[in-house]
Amino acid sequence: MDWPALQAAVSSCTRCSLCETRVAAVNGRGAENAAWIAIAGMPSQADEQDVQAVTGEAGQLLHNMLKAIELTPDTEVYVTNVVKCRPPGRNPTGEEVIACRPYLERELALTGATMAITFGQFAARGLMMGPAARGQVMHYGASRLPVVATYHPDDLLRKPEDKAKAWADLCLAKASHG
Ligand code: SF4
Repeated sequence: MDWPALQAAVSSCTRCSLCETRVAAVNGRGAENAAWIAIAGMPSQADEQDVQAVTGEAGQLLHNMLKAIELTPDTEVYVTNVVKCRPPGRNPTGEEVIACRPYLERELALTGATMAITFGQFAARGLMMGPAARGQVMHYGASRLPVVATYHPDDLLRKPEDKAKAWADLCLAKASHG
């Protein structure tokens, strides 16, 4: 699957029951050849309305977080979600995470990303499909993609006092990748 085929497949996907309640499936966005991949958990209501991953104020904060570690978001980072459709007022189930995984795998393959940051607790656990924690470099999949977990921008907007911990996470990611 190339990018257009992937995007079309996500937009019309019926692989799990979230297709019955979603307003729109939300594809990833950003650089197609990206060394870095930013992975949130699932689309917010605003993302679903804009049909854009991590949009609005959260998207602006994400942009600033990436720039703070000297990345150029538009050319170096691809932004996506573990699960492409918003569940109705709950986290996605394990079955839904598994159903959606081929799309994330394809995004990883097409971008060629060599470093991942997950944003929010669900994103970390959803990507790793098990326990995950901040403050360490985890590794995902057969390629052992390095992964660092941090807070979702929406969480930081609600709780700005966590920004110092998020900064430490971003510095760890940057130091791990160079
Ligand atoms: Fe398909 Fe993923 Fe949406 Fe489920 S969450 S319907 S697998 S795109």
